[in-house]
Amino acid sequence: MNVSPRPNSIMQAAVFHGGDRITIERVAMPDVGTGEVLVRVSRTALCGSDFKLWHKGAEFTAGHEIFGVVEQPGHRLHGLRCAVYIPLHCDHCAACKRGDTQMCLEVSSLIGWNRPGGYAEYVPVPENCLLPVPDDIEDSLAPLLLDTIGTSGHAVRFVSRVVP
Ligand SMILES: [Zn+2]
Ligand SMILES: [Zn+2]
Repeated sequence: MNVSPRPNSIMQAAVFHGGDRITIERVAMPDVGTGEVLVRVSRTALCGSDFKLWHKGAEFTAGHEIFGVVEQPGHRLHGLRCAVYIPLHCDHCAACKRGDTQMCLEVSSLIGWNRPGGYAEYVPVPENCLLPVPDDIEDSLAPLLLDTIGTSGHAVRFVSRVVP
């Protein structure tokens, strides 16, 4: 494990307790694993699936529609504006090789589901989960590139294979 660039500092993160209660807590900066970078979160969009956590709770920092900027001084990706592709994946297994990285056979973890998500100031993200966002897409619209446009785009592409 590498050490976060601010090993002793604290960040703010939203914790979903259930019973419609969310608190902003001061928590330790996350560790940044090998092959990962720290992303300073600019926007995290609310997704319908977050409502379950809001009502039922998880004592967890959710958030999986994440846009931010890589903050890893000295790293080649420092300063990159990026959306976060949440399924961790190996890039080498049969599923990854055919492009189905969301069904990776080696790693199954989702940022914002079984590791802390984007309702925080910072989130550690594997380099292969960073989706660069062009400069002409403003911060507030960037999270829409994920579920909102991605899911619809995938559906249209899928249907075009079966409907001529
Ligand atoms: Zn979502
Ligand atoms: Zn894989």
